[in-house]
Amino acid sequence: MRLRYQSRSQGSEPVQYDYPVSITWTPCHLGGERPWFRCPQCDSRVLNLYGGAMFACRHCMRLNYRSQQASKRDRATDRSWALRYSLGCDSGPFDYPAEYIRRPKGMHRKTFARRLEQLSRIEEKAVAEIDALLEVLR
Ligand SMILES: [Zn+2]
Repeated sequence: MRLRYQSRSQGSEPVQYDYPVSITWTPCHLGGERPWFRCPQCDSRVLNLYGGAMFACRHCMRLNYRSQQASKRDRATDRSWALRYSLGCDSGPFDYPAEYIRRPKGMHRKTFARRLEQLSRIEEKAVAEIDALLEVLR
C-alpha cells in the first residue's frame, strides 16, 4: 500500500508524505488468510497503524491502549484488551491472534467459548474500523 497525504502541524507549512506500507498475510486457524501491516518505522507486523505526521505502530507512536488517550477509533481495541485480560492473555489484539489463546485453568469450557466468540466479534469490529480508516486514506 502507498500512503500519500499532507500533514500540517500548528503554525507551519503543510508537509507532503508519500511512502509505502507493506502488507503481509498469515493463514487463519480455520482457513483463509488475514492481512497485517508492516510498521513503516520498525517493520513489526501489526494490524493497527496510528496516524501522527506519519503512520506507525503503537510502540513507535508510544501509545498505551489502556490510557485515557484512547480515541474513538480505539474503542473496540480497548474492549478487546479487557476481554483478553479476563482470558489470561497479556498480549494485544494485534500482536497475538485470538485463535491462539488457551483456556485458563479453572475456567469452564462454555465460559471460555463464549468469551472467545465475543472477542472475535469485537476484534472484527476493530478491523472494520481500521478498514474504514484505510478507505478515508484512499
Ligand atoms: Zn513500529
